[in-house]
Amino acid sequence: MILKLHNVTRIHGEGHTRVAALVNAKLSLDRGELVAVMGPSGSGKSTLLALAGGLDQPTAGKVFVDDVDLATLSVAARAALRRRRIGYVFQQYNLIEGLTAAENVSLPLELDGISHRIATQQALQALDRVEIRELADRFPEELSGGEQQRVAIARAIVGTRTLLLADEPTGALDTTTGETVLQVMRRHCEMGGCGILVTHDSRLAAWADRIVFLRDGRIVDEANEWDSPATLLATVQ
Ligand code: ADP
Ligand code: MG
Repeated sequence: MILKLHNVTRIHGEGHTRVAALVNAKLSLDRGELVAVMGPSGSGKSTLLALAGGLDQPTAGKVFVDDVDLATLSVAARAALRRRRIGYVFQQYNLIEGLTAAENVSLPLELDGISHRIATQQALQALDRVEIRELADRFPEELSGGEQQRVAIARAIVGTRTLLLADEPTGALDTTTGETVLQVMRRHCEMGGCGILVTHDSRLAAWADRIVFLRDGRIVDEANEWDSPATLLATVQ
């Protein structure tokens, strides 16, 4: 199992400012699986992703990545695990303007002490997987929105990064670009990775292996590929 959330709860604040952002969430992702997460604004989608990626810690419950309980790791060990195994894609791509596409993608590897030569090689492989290898030497401002997004995805899957976490990455983009993101995520999963895609777009979500619906911090339903898109849309609307 690459990712396991075991009864994970995340509470913010206390007393009258107490917010239960996520309550008793259970979720497992195996190699090859793509899960979509849907739910209204404030329902806990980003919280779930931040906990899965070790960016935030649960108030109760446990998060396992590669069967390792994240709570047992030191801050440094958790950061290293994140750099090596987990990739994030946000709605803002967070690319560094002064670095080329290839340099943006190789950065997490170089931060991890991997040699410049190997890091560059792996960055080019990742850019190849998102089909923009020929744009490796361009700077972000020389790329379209869709291309920048592919660079962000390449950075999230570079090297040994297996768990791809995407938080509404298609929010600002047109439908075609959204479908491209989904195809790239799918291919990443087919090559042995796994991913979680937070999206508002039920047409995109319908391509995932499973859909998790959140409401008020609780997983209220799970649909799988055997549910027809029509059933699914009825559930979402
Ligand atoms: P979503 O991504 O589905 O819109 P979030 O996971 O961002 O929802 O937030 C879930 C709930 O937790 C919301 O009510 C939000 O206001 C609250 N929340 C998230 N982060 C914090 C925080 N750092 N402090 C207080 N409340 C927070
Ligand atoms: Mg969010």
